[in-house]
Amino acid sequence: MLSVQEVSRSFGGVYAVRDVSLDIADGEVRGVIGPNGAGKSTLFHLITGHLATDRGAISLRSANVDRLPPHRRAALGMSIVFQGARVFRGMTVRENVMVGAHSRTRAGFVSAALRLPRHRRDEREIARRADEALARVGLTAWADRQAGLLPLGQQRSMQVARALCAEPRLLLLDEPASGLRAGEREALAVLIEELRAAGLTIMLIEHDVAFVTRLADRITVLDLGRVIAEGTPGEIRADPLVVSAYLGE
Ligand code: ADP
Ligand code: MG
Repeated sequence: MLSVQEVSRSFGGVYAVRDVSLDIADGEVRGVIGPNGAGKSTLFHLITGHLATDRGAISLRSANVDRLPPHRRAALGMSIVFQGARVFRGMTVRENVMVGAHSRTRAGFVSAALRLPRHRRDEREIARRADEALARVGLTAWADRQAGLLPLGQQRSMQVARALCAEPRLLLLDEPASGLRAGEREALAVLIEELRAAGLTIMLIEHDVAFVTRLADRITVLDLGRVIAEGTPGEIRADPLVVSAYLGE
């Protein structure tokens, strides 16, 4: 589904991501973990196209994408939930989700956020897809309510619904569990399990190792911009390099 080959990116001469390679299979849930500053979000933005690589290659279903802008990658099936993704608080939950259907076009996201008029039929079709996405994340009852009123856990589900509205093959999540309470975390984990069961490929970036360990087929560990380990959750938990990166030894 996704292949990242020896990708690097530096800021002011300092590498944030250095020679990172990873391959995610169709239907896999891949966890990416690492301490703060490890380069997780930078890698995420290199994959989505919100940051340009200095070196290396990225391909999605065998198509080279590393020079394509984000909306072209989205059109090929990549959909994202940013770390701390924003909520349009004054809009309804359905409207927030509908914004996601436009991530595949360059002007789409902006005009959707500004609620510029569009063709009626397109609008109805997008609303239908938004309602489908809301049903998948269990937010049907909230569709017409103001997004700013949602508790944080449901706001995250809404972000996932927004990403699903673009009908992706690969869903990329950057720290979706951060700041959530235990019960909200559990609900999010169940949702990710359901999406995986439905055949979606997922890359899950997390600071919380326990959350990823439960959900991922394989885990890639970053530290100081490099991959220091990759394996099944069991292998990763037993890896002394991983333990020392987390304990700062
Ligand atoms: P993580 O998501 O794992 O916490 P990041 O990818 O956000 O890590 O950051 C990795 C490193 O790159 C950090 O040292 C950070 O300060 C640096 N960095 C990230 N983005 C930028 C940027 N836009 N400009 C300068 N430095 C950056
Ligand atoms: Mg980050």
